[in-house]
Amino acid sequence: MFTALLLALQLGTPPVYDRVILGGRVMDPASKLDGLRNIGLQGGRIAVITTQALQGRDTVDARGLVVAPGFIDLHAHGQTAETYRFYALDGVTTALELEVGTADVAAWYRERSAGEQINYGVSIGHIKVRMVVMHDSGTWMPVSDGAYRAASPAQIAEIAKRIEVGLREGAVDIGAGFPYTPAATRAEVLAVFRVAAKTKTPIHVHITPGVAGLKEALALAGETGAPLHVVHINSAGLAETPAMLAMISNARAHGRDVTTEAYPYDAGMTEIQSATIQDVYRNAPDERLAELEWPRTGERLNRESFERYSRIGGPVVIHTNTEQMVAVAITSPLTVIASDAYWQGDTGHPRTTGTFARVLGRYVREAQANVGAQHAAPLRNMHSLSLMHSLSLMDAIRKMTLMPAQRLEARVPAMRQKGRLRVGADADITIFDPATVIDRSTYREPSLAPVGIQHVIVNGVSVVANGQAVEGVTPGRAVRGEAPR
Ligand SMILES: [Zn+2]
Repeated sequence: MFTALLLALQLGTPPVYDRVILGGRVMDPASKLDGLRNIGLQGGRIAVITTQALQGRDTVDARGLVVAPGFIDLHAHGQTAETYRFYALDGVTTALELEVGTADVAAWYRERSAGEQINYGVSIGHIKVRMVVMHDSGTWMPVSDGAYRAASPAQIAEIAKRIEVGLREGAVDIGAGFPYTPAATRAEVLAVFRVAAKTKTPIHVHITPGVAGLKEALALAGETGAPLHVVHINSAGLAETPAMLAMISNARAHGRDVTTEAYPYDAGMTEIQSATIQDVYRNAPDERLAELEWPRTGERLNRESFERYSRIGGPVVIHTNTEQMVAVAITSPLTVIASDAYWQGDTGHPRTTGTFARVLGRYVREAQANVGAQHAAPLRNMHSLSLMHSLSLMDAIRKMTLMPAQRLEARVPAMRQKGRLRVGADADITIFDPATVIDRSTYREPSLAPVGIQHVIVNGVSVVANGQAVEGVTPGRAVRGEAPR
């Protein structure tokens, strides 16, 4: 396909591209390009970015819109046709499940090999591997021995071996979640970190909450030399988020390979039967239980309803954070935007459908308007920390594209062709209206698509056109790690 283009150029006839994206404001964090350009796509890749006129067999009119690299989500639990469709409508072109992961990497990729709407990938997950080795009875998360029984030395060796097998089968990296596996000893998690260090694989960890939990994870990474990625610093940190971001910044300043991520909501969500909920709330008084919301009804829980729903199982909303802390996490230069998308059956967290549009609408456009208003009237609103932070559009795009790609690219060569708009890069492209983009989902109605995400292109093929999902197309490809040598 490129040869046909070269031939056309040599003959002096203008090339005709597969598709052209015309007149958009092209924003690329890697090159810092921010200007009106035309883009030509050929064979699923970007063939040209230019101010010259272009011809294509198909044209996307991007006038008045921002043309950005497709968003890369490092933390997307739903990995089904339904959730890939949700993510595409939010501008995501690559969705990776890197925290919980899977215990069987080969089978996980095989199940999706017929093609998906967007690019997909998975980690080998300590939680999932532990469930298999300890014969846990849970379906999604450990609920019995996978959570609560200490592993023998032989079982620890088996867990480490299975994680190495997962990496050889092409897992993107290693996932772990300490609050979901409270019986895992330091010796066990150290064995997992040693595999990460030996194979130079980032380990994505849902840490024990708070400063103490981050200290523990940094010590494990320091002792072994493992690259560390701390998932959802907003919900792991709550009121301690600023202190924890400072710890990560300090570790990085000392040359440590530590990164983190955040999602833009002040409530979390997880399975009510999981240890992370049961350990905290099993004996909690009613005031604490009222932090929990049953999303199907919107009711806050008490002792009776907590026990009743714990027997049924299902997702529960956790109201423990503040908007101010979320703003600190989202606007920090350290954080990648990652949704922690969570969907079970017919319900889930609104972050599943709205994370990226919400950052662009609320933390870029609306926050900039607030900061502007503040400058006009400096005595008003000065108490509000959240209003003093706002994110530039380029920085927001960087957190959604280049930063997640760079986090993974040492082990996942495919990521070197994503997260950038440049000639030769994969044609994963998100085109949105910066003046209107915003999420619409709520805790009661979590499946609503955002507005303003106009066109989403995966490997050159539109999966969203004029704000609507394109049905029946599966251009998404597997994203896999390189087998460690
Ligand atoms: Zn988590």
